[in-house]
Amino acid sequence: MTSRPPTRFDVSRDELAALLGDQPRYRVDQVWDGLYEPGKDLLDISNVPVAVRERLDTTLPRALTPVAESSSDDETTTKWLWELADGAQVETVLMHYRDRTTVCISTQAGCAMACSFCATGQAGFERQLTVGEIVEQVIEARRVALPRRLSNVVFMGMGEPLANYDATWAAVERLHGDLGLSARHLTISTVGLVPGIRRLAAESLPVNLAVSLHLAEDARRDRLVPINRRYPLAVLAEACHEYLDATGRRLSFEWALIDGVNDSDLDARQLAAYARPLRAHVNLIPLNPTPGYPTRGTPPEGVAEFRDRLRELGINATVRANRGTDIDAACGQLRANKATSVATPTRRS
Ligand code: SAH
Repeated sequence: MTSRPPTRFDVSRDELAALLGDQPRYRVDQVWDGLYEPGKDLLDISNVPVAVRERLDTTLPRALTPVAESSSDDETTTKWLWELADGAQVETVLMHYRDRTTVCISTQAGCAMACSFCATGQAGFERQLTVGEIVEQVIEARRVALPRRLSNVVFMGMGEPLANYDATWAAVERLHGDLGLSARHLTISTVGLVPGIRRLAAESLPVNLAVSLHLAEDARRDRLVPINRRYPLAVLAEACHEYLDATGRRLSFEWALIDGVNDSDLDARQLAAYARPLRAHVNLIPLNPTPGYPTRGTPPEGVAEFRDRLRELGINATVRANRGTDIDAACGQLRANKATSVATPTRRS
């Protein structure tokens, strides 16, 4: 629950109906459908009287005000830094690929998980996002993506989605039910919050699960990813099995390759032994350097070597292109580097 007044995409259909109490019943559907139609603004819902649109525009303000927006030179990546009503800031990144268009969204302002290499974790936790603040990131990215169709959403921006479970799941339902995105194209990424994974396993929509593993040995993972002390690897693997059995969805492990920290042959063997029984796919991401962590990413030859070693060990592994590094779009860097950002603020028309 939030004490903040609801923003445009916070309200449920019933809450919208209450706000439109003086209007004919069909108005609720007209407004609701208009709100979720790609590229449409509330003020453009032409079958609704202007006075009603204007009233709602005031009662249900947008959640996100752009502070900075920039695109990579080839225009395949666009990032936003948004300010919320209370001044908190979050990031969203839109990425066009040959076969799909993906948006990476935030679920919390800041993060309490304190992973040492993560810019968001270094800054600490600020607050939970509401469902409307999460959904509006997708609405905005979908509008900007046009005429390309936004096909995929990854919950891999700022914050730990499973530590804001209710709003995250409400957003999943909205994206599926009202924006028409397939559950197979939604991916929730978690540091490994076991109770959250168990809850996900019991939900009716089978979304993809990505677990940010980074190390497959408890003593070392305890230090890099502190939540491992509470939910160690064996317990995490059990929850992953449960998720697979319940949903039949693919599981993937994220592995940010850090020079001399998790890129040795032993690391590859430990990872392979952990991933194999779960038939997990491994996504390798060269570490993005962050101000609070003085270690660099594994150099490209080492990345290819690690990938090949995993493949020899029978693991399906791919290297994820590090989109947006040139525009500070990766992993909380936009907010961290805001003071020196080249982006110019833009206003929506
Ligand atoms: N809290 C969730 C989702 C947000 S982080 C999670 O941990 O999965 C999204 C992904 O970015 C995670 O895999 C995280 O470990 C990774 N990440 C964070 N900082 C990074 C960095 N500096 N370089 C590369 N990947 C990073």
